[in-house]
Amino acid sequence: MAHEFDLLVIGAGSGGVRCARIAAGHGARVAVVESRHWGGTCVNLGCVPKKLMVQASEYGDMVEDSHAFGWTSTRGTHDWAKLIAAKDKEITRLNGIYVSMLEKAGITLLTGHARFEDAHTVRIEPSPLAPDEQPFTVKARHIVIATGSTPVKPDIPGAEFAITSDEAFHLPTRPQRVVIVGSGYIGLEFAGIFAGLGSEVDLVYRQDLPLRGFDEDMRAAMKEAITARGITQHSHASPTHIRKEGSGYSVTLDNGQTLEADCVFFATGRRPKIDSLGLETTKVETADNGRIKVNSKRETTQPGIYAIGDVTDHLNLTPVAIAEGHNLADRLSGKETPRSWSLRTTPKAVFFSPPLATVGLTEEEATHHGAVDVYFTRFTPMRHTLSGRTDRKTVMKLVVDQASQKVVGAHVLGDDAAEMMQGIAVAVTAGLRKVDFDRTVGIHPTSAEELVTLRTRTRETPAIN
Ligand code: NDP
Repeated sequence: MAHEFDLLVIGAGSGGVRCARIAAGHGARVAVVESRHWGGTCVNLGCVPKKLMVQASEYGDMVEDSHAFGWTSTRGTHDWAKLIAAKDKEITRLNGIYVSMLEKAGITLLTGHARFEDAHTVRIEPSPLAPDEQPFTVKARHIVIATGSTPVKPDIPGAEFAITSDEAFHLPTRPQRVVIVGSGYIGLEFAGIFAGLGSEVDLVYRQDLPLRGFDEDMRAAMKEAITARGITQHSHASPTHIRKEGSGYSVTLDNGQTLEADCVFFATGRRPKIDSLGLETTKVETADNGRIKVNSKRETTQPGIYAIGDVTDHLNLTPVAIAEGHNLADRLSGKETPRSWSLRTTPKAVFFSPPLATVGLTEEEATHHGAVDVYFTRFTPMRHTLSGRTDRKTVMKLVVDQASQKVVGAHVLGDDAAEMMQGIAVAVTAGLRKVDFDRTVGIHPTSAEELVTLRTRTRETPAIN
């Protein structure tokens, strides 16, 4: 069968773009089709704008803290429209970089919505990025689905009044009272953003502690950090309905409480984006939550079609999608030693203020493999001994497998935790032992040095049989 391309990538997000560029670098004829934004979720409606907004939200407290260091500056007011415009300008610049990067790699850029006609044929239809384009078809030997994910809302009365992260990046004004539902990554990151910029934030979540799935000590520490940021928490609670009231909303919780808000924000997870992909014309199988089923080689159940990133609902993080895309492109190009990553020790960060970063196992997960030694510390970072914000604690924890003495988990809540964790992730990925941490000289004075000076075991936790 004649194919115009060796590889067609559907979706120009982080994973798709990496896959396309690596394959083109190996000499393949590659096309990428994108329906909405060059750069995908991370660049347009995720990591990048989020981080800029987190940074924006931290200046107010920093100005106040500077008084203790001799400055006389005043906090002033925040101009939301100016922040959004500056953030949008930067994203437009990045969109341009993505396009020129793909063009320079000799990749054909296609705009429109991709719909399978069969396992090797895709019809490209008009989409927001190309509303006036005529439909056309493309044939490729290999097709990679890298369409990402989209936010979901709970199915409750009034859900249509609530926004998700997609809309939060473009609100015309900053809401003064925000109710955020969900205490995962997005809930906490936006709670921190709005609180830092001066909004009153109510955070509603179903569990006792935020961040289900993270280490229990760190979840407890995060709960304290959220309170220290001035956010009101409603644990063991879920919304049952939302009503519009005047220019605002009232949110009724299942504990009987009612919260008033100018904005209700659902940060209640994301689902794989497979809408209108025409998968029914192929043998690609999906699971109940819409995730495309793949094996460890990212092959779907249809030979010739692959899937990477959030659409497979594996580890929904940008660097993971990039790793999957790179590895797949190497393999499709017949490279003998495709580049691989240790996804088992993928570090993660929640960009709250302060951030929480982690690599490896939680204490509980580690105990499923054997008894563990736990090293734990909690202290006021140097900056806040002067600023007076003594409720802004730094918390660190190392989880050490007792038998091998390998550090199998590291967890930090505190300023610069994400920056610290990248280096610690190398050590944990390399399987280094506690003694290797102990013989590493600290950098003084830093918070990070505590990670190599944790001498006394806090406790020993037996294995769970
Ligand atoms: P998460 O899965 O992290 O958190 C979802 C939250 O919503 C949980 O608190 C969950 O509660 C709650 N929830 C789910 N359904 C309901 C419901 N029906 N009613 C009430 N609460 C509900 O999802 P996010 O949307 O925060 O983020 C999506 C993914 O995006 C993340 O998993 C992560 O992979 C990625 N991401 C990564 C970031 C980073 O690396 N910094 C930043 C942002 C996103 P419960 O725990 O009780 O189920």
